[in-house]
Amino acid sequence: MLRSANLLLVMILVGVLAGGFVGWAYGEAAGPAVGWIGELFLNLLTMLVVPLLVAAVVSGITGLGDPRRLGRVGVWTLVYYFATVAVAVVIGLLMVNLIRPGEGVPTAGLTADPDLASMSTGITDVLLSLVAPNIIDAAARTQLLPVIVWAILLGIAVAMGGQRTRPLARFFEALNDAMIRIVGWVMYLAPLGIFGLVAARLGQAGGGSAFWDSVRAVGMHVVTVLSGLTVHFLLLLAIAVWIGGRGAGYLVGMARAIFVALGTASSSATLPLTMQCAAEQGIDARATRFVLPLGSTINMDGTALYEAAAVLFIAQAYGIDLGFGAQLLVFITATMAAIGAAGIPEAGLVTMVVVLKAVGLPLEGIGLLLAVDWFLDRFRTATNVWGDAVGAAVIDRYLRRTD
Ligand code: ASP
Repeated sequence: MLRSANLLLVMILVGVLAGGFVGWAYGEAAGPAVGWIGELFLNLLTMLVVPLLVAAVVSGITGLGDPRRLGRVGVWTLVYYFATVAVAVVIGLLMVNLIRPGEGVPTAGLTADPDLASMSTGITDVLLSLVAPNIIDAAARTQLLPVIVWAILLGIAVAMGGQRTRPLARFFEALNDAMIRIVGWVMYLAPLGIFGLVAARLGQAGGGSAFWDSVRAVGMHVVTVLSGLTVHFLLLLAIAVWIGGRGAGYLVGMARAIFVALGTASSSATLPLTMQCAAEQGIDARATRFVLPLGSTINMDGTALYEAAAVLFIAQAYGIDLGFGAQLLVFITATMAAIGAAGIPEAGLVTMVVVLKAVGLPLEGIGLLLAVDWFLDRFRTATNVWGDAVGAAVIDRYLRRTD
């Protein structure tokens, strides 16, 4: 089992590199040729997300037994999410203040996207997005946050129902097991799927030389974000060791999910694999089933770090000096924006509007980031998934101690 998992990991790595090579060399021709393989893989993963998520959350909650226990696990999970997202934002802010990547970047001729400018960004919009009037419709659109809220309520009701609702608890338990089995099959397509996704996306960006030109235009921004993400990634590893009691082996065990996040740029699409890898690592099912689905939509360390870094970068490019107060506002709104971002490609770029509006920066500044966002998105998504995995290890430790 372990050997085949390691082999798969190596193949996935080869898929990433080969995809990068093909996209780099063949440019736009890569998409029509191999993009469909990536799309097939992505669709296979995405089709599992809603049923797996509902089954996992409901059976995770019923597995906890006492609903009061859910309260304590829920509180610790949220504490973990908020603490790590806050640290990520601070790292993002520190990096930009240190490296100052935006200074001297030209801003002339940028225009704001009207859709972004008219986006509603109030706190009430966030609250409203928690509940959907039609849960089937939300599920059909893969709007996961209302689906999770619905599943949590259902899970609590089933747990409180005792004998009368026990058949439902067993149903969702069985559905979860069946879904995880399918994930195991889809996993074998990951090397080819990631190859197709990476090749097609790099090709869409115009291939190697066009991509390199875009990176050079905002080179220091790319360096700042990637180094910030690396620091945070290592910090999460330290938390996994320190609080979660798990070492580098855990990182290797989760690496397949992390690479799939890199390939798909979507925490939600990666969720089935994150759950599978965590289960293989012996994480308590009650932790994987509750912490990971919730984390895939609200715990986004990489996105939070990125939003803070990108907003400060835009301010520097426009020559606007954001003092301590304004940076505090960036801290608060970037945390909120990361929580509000869906686990889909480039969602962070859209919710960044919240942060820009809060500190009064020009929305057209986003134009500076567009060409490289798809690329950085992959690294922040990988950090997001790793953050969820470490959260599962921390809650796993908590559950074992309190059993
Ligand atoms: N793509 C990210 C994710 O799915 C969200 C973002 O930062 O755009 O986790």
